[in-house]
Amino acid sequence: MFYKFYPKERQESAYQIDYAALAAKGYRGILFDIDNTLVPHGAPATPEAAVLFEKLRGLGFRTCLISNNHEPRVKPFAEAVKSEFLCDAHKPSVRGYEAAMTRIGTSRNNTLFVGDQLFTDIYGANRTGLYTILVHPIHPKEEIQIVMKRKLERIVLHFYQRQEKNS
Ligand SMILES: [Mg+2]
Repeated sequence: MFYKFYPKERQESAYQIDYAALAAKGYRGILFDIDNTLVPHGAPATPEAAVLFEKLRGLGFRTCLISNNHEPRVKPFAEAVKSEFLCDAHKPSVRGYEAAMTRIGTSRNNTLFVGDQLFTDIYGANRTGLYTILVHPIHPKEEIQIVMKRKLERIVLHFYQRQEKNS
């Protein structure tokens, strides 16, 4: 019943995904959430993030950061990792994902989405028709609203895992 929120894959971290294998399958574009996906909420780009994006370019990927946050947060991060970006994306609205793909010239058939939240990131990307990868949030400390949302996410993921076992 929660299938709209189910990711295609779950991974521990955006830094542990086998991007080479996905490139070999024909994927050419990746849309990334930033906060809690690539770095802790609000943190600047790390050397690790810059290295990852360098590696992705080497594999032939075009990337676009897609964030509901505003330009002062998103643009410096994008510059640091040399990626395209879309701020104020209004995830889970499909329009933002489509605008991000237009920016990098890919389509829903060859674009991946990587993010940490089910109800915004994954739900919107699923509706857009992307291959969705959910990662564990990087969170030293989360605010109370986010803690509540995580509880709801755990309920959905419980059903997701049950379905995985049965399939
Ligand atoms: Mg996030």
